Amino acid sequence: QHSAMTLNELADYWAAEKPDDIAYRFDGRATSFREFRDASEALARAFAAEGVGKGDRIAWIGKNSDRYFLTLFAAARIGAVTVPVGWRLATAEMAFIVEDAEAGTIVSGPEFLDLASGFADTIGCVKRLFGAEGNPTAECVASLQARHESAPPVDYSPHCDDPIVQLYTSGTTGQPKGVVLTQNNILKGRSRDEREIPNWDRWAEGDAGLQAMPVAHIAGTGYGILPLNRGMACSIIAEFDIERTLDLIDARHVTRFFLVPAALQMLITHPRLAEIDTSGVVQIAYGASPMPLQLLRDCMKAFPNAGFAQFYGMTETTGTIIVLPPEDHDPAGNERMRSAGKPLDGVEVRIVDEQGKEVGVGEVGEIVTRSEANMVHYWKQPERTAETVDGEGWLRTGDAAYRDADGYIYIHDRMKDMIITGGENVYPAEVENALYEHPQVSEAAVIGVPDETWGEAVKAVIVPKNGAKIDEREIIAFVRERIAGYKTPKTVDVIAVMPRNASGKILRKDLRAPYWEGRERQVN
Ligand code: ATP
Ligand code: MG
Repeated sequence: QHSAMTLNELADYWAAEKPDDIAYRFDGRATSFREFRDASEALARAFAAEGVGKGDRIAWIGKNSDRYFLTLFAAARIGAVTVPVGWRLATAEMAFIVEDAEAGTIVSGPEFLDLASGFADTIGCVKRLFGAEGNPTAECVASLQARHESAPPVDYSPHCDDPIVQLYTSGTTGQPKGVVLTQNNILKGRSRDEREIPNWDRWAEGDAGLQAMPVAHIAGTGYGILPLNRGMACSIIAEFDIERTLDLIDARHVTRFFLVPAALQMLITHPRLAEIDTSGVVQIAYGASPMPLQLLRDCMKAFPNAGFAQFYGMTETTGTIIVLPPEDHDPAGNERMRSAGKPLDGVEVRIVDEQGKEVGVGEVGEIVTRSEANMVHYWKQPERTAETVDGEGWLRTGDAAYRDADGYIYIHDRMKDMIITGGENVYPAEVENALYEHPQVSEAAVIGVPDETWGEAVKAVIVPKNGAKIDEREIIAFVRERIAGYKTPKTVDVIAVMPRNASGKILRKDLRAPYWEGRERQVN
């Protein structure tokens, strides 16, 4: 296997090894490893000829595309950093990222030319826009390559510590933060020695991945590079689309994928699923937000040939650091499936109290972690970085969890979402899990609201299944049978649509806001 330290070495390696095999499929077009390598090299020359250099930020404004990965690999060849901007964000949020990153260059997907040229006119740092050459159907990257066909070779040797991508966190708890990740984070941080890859994650000839989550998220960018790292094909879809996903599965263009729980729920409840051949799917990874146990059981029934793996991680850790492998997934649906699993090889994980001391088995604390996958720093936020990563390289995740006697880690929740009621700590995920078992509950979120007696009281917010009538008292009694009284919601709100951010995460801060108007909520 390869020992590539940088993306360009990786592209070079597979271009030499399997030149004609497919690296990426997108929108009916297949790119071989050699074509991908050559195109990324040509684009790197074009970028350099246009004046883009080491350390410069290139904002990608577009949906998922093979052109995005081409941009990323080309930029990395000249030491430039790609900043994928979430296209589902509001215009002002996108502008914030372009400006915060000080992006001198924008590469725009065809759907976003107007927006991108607006940014080029109004945001001071933007000097170049590729993709606004007047022909909206022409692919900007292709035209850029064509314009610089005879540009001189690039004279830069990428280093494994070069930053190559700057991803903004989802903004679930506050303003998104720019997370700077290096070649090493992306490439070596998790894959390490090929021989250490566990059996369930060894890709075989004919395997192919699906890149369906937004590239602005580590799950999207990371999963778009993973198949290439293994020398296998990756199918990219512009955005998560059930029909397209089903087509790719049916055609066996996809055998392994990562989806967030909300996307999996849409997939398995789609009527067409029963009509297609799903036997080619051998692995389904899920994560990024809590997976309700019942949904996981339903997914396992829908894809009986697939090994399921839970992935836990965050932007700051270049994605996955803790995994629950397929062998811990029992079709009968055991309790262990609530666990996020164990740290990957080479990843250190501790669960600590407020003083930073490790807590005992079964006790809840904050997850801290150290590995090669940890980010270098938050962009332009030295204080934040210092609060998050200590001098020895331990990174605070902000997530609460405990470990059982066998070493399995259970993610409870965000520390900031923990509810303190009458001196007891309540973690919303546990209450939500109980709510999800109720047949009339489609989506559930649990928040703390101000309470005269208890400090905070537990409130459930529910989206009912197909307009079912929700009886508040009955819901409360149902949950009370499953968990302790102090964890049981005191009140239930019914809403039509759950507020989620672009990564599909429930925005508890938005649900809380009306109840806390004019008051300060204490968080530890
Ligand atoms: P922000 O940091 O801006 O508030 P965010 O934390 O949602 O946003 P991401 O880095 O995209 O941004 O998400 C990482 C977080 O997602 C983790 O800290 C954790 O809370 C949650 N998460 C990730 N994987 C899982 C999982 N398997 N189960 C439960 N929660 C998960
Ligand atoms: Mg976060």
